[in-house]
Amino acid sequence: MTTQETIGLFNDYVIANYGRLPRVMVKGEGCYLWDADGNKILDMFPGWAVSGLGHCPPKVVEAVRKQVGELIHIDNTFYSEPQGRLAKLLSERAFGGKCFFCNSGAEANEAALKLARLCTPKEKYKFITCEGSFHGRTFATVTATAQPKYHEGFLPLLPGFAYIPFNDIKALEAAFTDEVAAVLVEPIQGEGGIHVASPEFLRAIRRLCDEKGAVMILDEVQTGVGRTGKWFGYQHFDVEPDIITMAKALGGGVAIGAMMARAEIAACLVPGKHASTFGGNCLACAAGVATIEAIDEGNLLQQAAEMGQYAQEKLRALKEKHSIIDHVRGIGLMIGIQLTAAGAQIVGKCLEKGLRINCTHDTVIRFMPPMIVTKEQIDEAVGIFDSVLSEG
Ligand SMILES: *Cc1c(COP(=O)(O)O)cnc(C)c1O
Repeated sequence: MTTQETIGLFNDYVIANYGRLPRVMVKGEGCYLWDADGNKILDMFPGWAVSGLGHCPPKVVEAVRKQVGELIHIDNTFYSEPQGRLAKLLSERAFGGKCFFCNSGAEANEAALKLARLCTPKEKYKFITCEGSFHGRTFATVTATAQPKYHEGFLPLLPGFAYIPFNDIKALEAAFTDEVAAVLVEPIQGEGGIHVASPEFLRAIRRLCDEKGAVMILDEVQTGVGRTGKWFGYQHFDVEPDIITMAKALGGGVAIGAMMARAEIAACLVPGKHASTFGGNCLACAAGVATIEAIDEGNLLQQAAEMGQYAQEKLRALKEKHSIIDHVRGIGLMIGIQLTAAGAQIVGKCLEKGLRINCTHDTVIRFMPPMIVTKEQIDEAVGIFDSVLSEG
């Protein structure tokens, strides 16, 4: 099919709920993508942070190929080895919690919110979340997402949510009534523009949750599984949450989500309280196991930390040349370039020159390469970005 024929199918049969670029992608390998017209693209935002190991990571491809010939799916009526193994690998890399598996980030957050309600007294029904956050598009998670643009057309939302400015400890204290069941926050706001939580803010959440008997939930859907140079974003801070949620990079490209909770809290989730038909299915969990093993074997946490530092330095150096760059922020390979003007055109021009990046909140370029990225690829990407900025 030609590019136009494929786009024609979308125009006729696919709901137009995304603003898509007019390219059809047909192949991916590592940091590179190919479109149907044979163009090769350096992908520095693969899969919106899903393809954390790059496109088609060989270990994941091999594991999925093997698993698909043995058992694609088995329902949770039974036990299955990949699900158990993945839970163990995740537990060992976080705070020793227990896992519930689902299929997306929003579902992982839904599970966390429900569990927080279940494991706290009945009168605790409120949730505190932060302005600029992003937690998903289901009714509870879009309510948790404290951005008016995502709420338009969906009022009234779920009751019981209080929104505070990110990193505002005074506002947190003021909102923390006895009815609060949980605080849900990203350690680094991703969609919101790569804003890093302050250690004091996360510690204040921990302290207040302990004092009031509420649950501290960290949304690690974007920060989790290595992107920041540690397994989970919270590990850069001196805090331990009660629940973390993850998805995106967890399956190396295969759809999977997970919620991990401390064992005492996890015990509230008894049969009948929550479930997911596809959750924990063999294929997704085999992909998850292979993803974790690939990160270990490739020493990719260290690589993410080192390449993140290298990329941030190179991008910061561009500030001298281009006044449109205000500053660069982030941890590891979660990098935001704050512009002084809109960035959508820059993203489009970069794509024409074979570089894929992303722009969020109008003026923040997200530069989030996979953990396998090399210095040469970063140099190439920064070079293209530089040349596009030079064109003005
Ligand atoms: C992407 C994202 C989500 C939503 O994940 P889906 O898989 O799209 O439901 C939730 N939280 C954060 C922090 C995200 O980046």
